[in-house]
Amino acid sequence: MTGSVPLLQLNDVCRYYTNSEVEVRALDKVSLSVDKGEFIAIMGQSGSGKSTLMNILGCLDKPTSGDYLINGQPVAELDADCLSALRLKTFGFVFQRYQLLSDYSAQENVAMPAIYSGMSKNERLNKANELLGRLGLAERGLHKPTELSGGQQQRVSVARALINGAEVILADEPTGALDSASGEQLLDLLKQLNQEGVTIILITHDPEVAEHADRLIQVKDGIILSDSKTFDAGLESQSESATAKITALPGIGTFESVIMAFTSLHANWFRTLLTLLGIIIGVASVVTMMAIGEGGKQDVLKRIETIGTNLVLIRPGGANIRRSGDNASLTLDDAEAIAELEGAAFTAPERSTRTTMRYGQYDFNGRIKGTNSDYKGAKDWEMSKGVFFSEADIENYAPVVVIGATVAEQLFPNGEEPVGKYVWMKSAFYQIIGVLQAKGASAGGHDMDDEVLIPITTGIMKAFGRDYLHSIVVKVESTDKVQATIERIKAKLIERHGKEDFMIHSTDSLVEAVTETQDTLTWLLASVAGISLFVGGIGVMNIMLVNVSERRREIGLRIATGAKPGDILKQFNIEAWVVCILGGVIGVAFGFIASLIIQLFEISVSFTLMPPVVAFITSLLVGLIFGYAPAHKAAKLNPIDALAED
Ligand code: ADP
Ligand code: MG
Repeated sequence: MTGSVPLLQLNDVCRYYTNSEVEVRALDKVSLSVDKGEFIAIMGQSGSGKSTLMNILGCLDKPTSGDYLINGQPVAELDADCLSALRLKTFGFVFQRYQLLSDYSAQENVAMPAIYSGMSKNERLNKANELLGRLGLAERGLHKPTELSGGQQQRVSVARALINGAEVILADEPTGALDSASGEQLLDLLKQLNQEGVTIILITHDPEVAEHADRLIQVKDGIILSDSKTFDAGLESQSESATAKITALPGIGTFESVIMAFTSLHANWFRTLLTLLGIIIGVASVVTMMAIGEGGKQDVLKRIETIGTNLVLIRPGGANIRRSGDNASLTLDDAEAIAELEGAAFTAPERSTRTTMRYGQYDFNGRIKGTNSDYKGAKDWEMSKGVFFSEADIENYAPVVVIGATVAEQLFPNGEEPVGKYVWMKSAFYQIIGVLQAKGASAGGHDMDDEVLIPITTGIMKAFGRDYLHSIVVKVESTDKVQATIERIKAKLIERHGKEDFMIHSTDSLVEAVTETQDTLTWLLASVAGISLFVGGIGVMNIMLVNVSERRREIGLRIATGAKPGDILKQFNIEAWVVCILGGVIGVAFGFIASLIIQLFEISVSFTLMPPVVAFITSLLVGLIFGYAPAHKAAKLNPIDALAED
């Protein structure tokens, strides 16, 4: 063997604190070596630097200058994750105020550091029970810290220090808060552990406590006053792991993190509920608002569809021409010319006038419209009875009429058969040859079934007194041909009239306009809802920050017992995600329910996949973004400060 390496070695270690320009030398050129199996008491008055020394030995703090070697390996060369591994495997801390987590049972407190060494839950709890049994706390495993005496709590904390098989126990005033009997019991326990091979470094200011140790180091003002090195560092005292390289441990499992998240969310359930509410309201309102917006759009589109999406309407008049119903610019010949054009499937001329229609004692007041046989196809009418007029009827100026369902009801209230009957209007008799199938109300709420249709030729000859048209309706073969057909109609009419004395409208452009305005409205509603989701996100951040502040001691303890900064980051991020995912799922469900309730008030809603997906993803992002800052704050926390707080 070529020279044994001490387990722990400090060479000229200094630790200075600079507070408001005053430099405090908490440790001043301290050199010290500790061999495996020693039982050391460090004594000194308050403020002499004992805790500072302990924190450096336990890798919770770093020297300002000087070297610290563990098994000959310089600690300064290790990264944060390797330091965590050291705290986890090599050291076990016992604190004056026990530092147990109040929401956890004794057993869970003991098992906590083993989460970070990758032990399974069963393994952890079994080992914790075994340790508690050895320390005389077999029956206390399920008790919460508040149900245990001080001495019992301190033994729980010793068990916790041992769970990952610590080689060195660092105990800072472990008996400070105990009565003398419990203190005595604890010292016996430490002595027993020392006999089993655990190195013990104990801080005290009580000479009686210090007497239990084999080696006494006295500290004053950051300097070692005396060191009674009696322990013989023989060959067998060489650390077993003298050559073992210190490596980082894998991170904590996601499943463990989720379980921990639920545990802590459950422990603060009311706060969790309030946070959830913010996300739920945000997500639910996005889903509901978009369902209402989409419903409104579908509503309008459906109404337009009943008119037909590929209709083109030509009216007389134009930009520089006075608009009136009787602009003498559209003629039957124009209609015939348009009917010849490519793309025009049906071309129906229209002219109408007010009239009273009479059958026996019954009257109908309304409009009669003159048109041709294409009208049925152009407006998608079906017959409920009889037939529509034919081309022959048009050519022959036939005195026939086709009526809508409402008209039929008014003239034949007793259910008489209308077809074949003669009605009196405009000083002549017309024979009813057909009844149109009912269509219901149109977009404007106007009854579409009050149609009274006669051949345009008959109308011009007998009823209207003028031979100009009010409009020409063209149904284009398909929607994609609407634009080209409009161009052709325009060219044709300009060719015939020599000027643009007409206007062309299409339902196609109407659909576009409506879709656009409705989409704008939907996004407006959604962005208002999105703002509430954003506010919910700020709520999550706020609560998580409170959470981190409130749990500083827990976080400090986890870091001191071996959690890596990454583990802490993960735990708090996952807590935020769990809240947001939970809020997202409940919010989507509430959004659907709210939409269904709104539907009961006859407001159209329409569900598409996008709003819930968007809302859910947004809430996830909210968790990711707003959860990060608090989690980062937690991971950066200084465990020494956190554990020193009351
Ligand atoms: P002990 O544990 O022996 O009571 P400490 O190691 O806690 O002593 O403190 C040693 C000296 O360092 C004291 O003077 C103390 O005021 C100072 N000190 C400790 N921690 C800090 C700190 N975080 N900032 C500034 N000074 C500190
Ligand atoms: Mg101290």
